[in-house]
Amino acid sequence: MSLLYYSTNLESPAVNFPEALLRGQAPDRGLYMPVIIPPVETGQMEHFRNMSYAQIASEVTWKYLEGQIPREILDALTRDAYGFDVPLEHVTDRKYVMRLDQGPTASFKDFAARLMGRLMNYYLSLQNRKLLILTATSGDTGSAVSHAFLGLDNIRVVVLFPEKEVSRRQRKQMTTLGHNITVISMDGKFDDCQALVKQAFADPVLEGLSLSSANSINIGRLVPQTVYYFYAWSRLSKPGEKMIFSVPSGNFGDMMGGVMAMKMGLPVERFIIAVNGNDEFPRYLESGVYEKIEPSRNCISSAMNVGHPSNLARLAALYRGVMDEKGNIRYQADLQTMRKELWSVSVSDQQTRDTIKSAWDSHRLLLEPHGAVGWAGLQEFLEYHPDLSAGQLCVSLETAHPAKFPEEINSLLGFNPELPPSLQGLEEKEEHCGNLPTDYPAFRDFLLENYS
Ligand SMILES: *Cc1c(COP(=O)(O)O)cnc(C)c1O
Repeated sequence: MSLLYYSTNLESPAVNFPEALLRGQAPDRGLYMPVIIPPVETGQMEHFRNMSYAQIASEVTWKYLEGQIPREILDALTRDAYGFDVPLEHVTDRKYVMRLDQGPTASFKDFAARLMGRLMNYYLSLQNRKLLILTATSGDTGSAVSHAFLGLDNIRVVVLFPEKEVSRRQRKQMTTLGHNITVISMDGKFDDCQALVKQAFADPVLEGLSLSSANSINIGRLVPQTVYYFYAWSRLSKPGEKMIFSVPSGNFGDMMGGVMAMKMGLPVERFIIAVNGNDEFPRYLESGVYEKIEPSRNCISSAMNVGHPSNLARLAALYRGVMDEKGNIRYQADLQTMRKELWSVSVSDQQTRDTIKSAWDSHRLLLEPHGAVGWAGLQEFLEYHPDLSAGQLCVSLETAHPAKFPEEINSLLGFNPELPPSLQGLEEKEEHCGNLPTDYPAFRDFLLENYS
């Protein structure tokens, strides 16, 4: 009766939701996908127009979780996860920007991480288990994960970060939390922190600690990312109207949420997948030949500097192809259908900066580099499709708050964006931060002393 989840590499057995959630990656290194995409009936969707974001989240995620959690618990978890606003800013004609930046860390990653954390905590408490989440961060992931798991009683978090590569504000977003969140600075680089975490996962001495990662490929992060597409539709669309979404993309989790929403029945005309200089996907969509970019290119939309998006294996699976975790195509996806439903473009740093400037000058629309890639992608799509009328409903996603990029905004627009409430008052809060040498035995001993 319950929906099962298969591995995109097709070599591990299908499992139920809690198992896929607590495992993260399948044993064959594939990504978990639902064996069918559950439909949402048009009649049900109409009711979303009168529901809150949290209620829509419960309706939509229930399609994936039915039979695996009591409904009233899911209702309570979504209410707890989504207490913040989701602004849909009108720009011009029927063009909007959806701001996914009002969560506690002012990034769209809050939407996925907060519900994933609560679901994990629920299943752990049923199984009487506890998890220790280890994560290395170069800034934003660490704070989104820490905030998402803050105060959950079956999960403890240890975050490692490179002292010299993280901004003061990013550091304070993690070190002022306390409770079940422990933050440790290291004098090495991000890659050194990452290597220590990987070594810990592979160390048999630490087996008793129930280590886990809050991996970005977890199915528990994908499912909540289908919700805001339904939300935008519920607030903006007229009866029978189809939408265009533009999604600034890196690892393609955000975009996958949207494409799944479309396959569930959301009326979508096209998805625009806007990437920065890492253009492996638009090239693939055009040619059918996939070449990842190694090492990935450094662009100002830094959270999208991905030369091989891990969720591409899921996209291929959705279009009846098979791609392994390294990017090898074992069976080509249905490119023809993909090209009808998706459109992709690479946006340079120069275009990104020009877009921040022109969006402000023409529309008083304030964008940061990631959202600007999405908005630029939409403009370019509309130029190539002059047949679409000005009345076409389009929504471009803004994935971070402009106040997280004060230098870039100030140099282009000449002012500092106002901090959102979530980032205010950080200066006065007390920091708790450990420090360890970049040395595996020291890290292992720290974990053994504090967590066994
Ligand atoms: C992570 C991130 C992205 C990219 O999202 P994906 O799901 O990896 O494509 C875009 N913008 C911001 C601000 C991010 O933090």
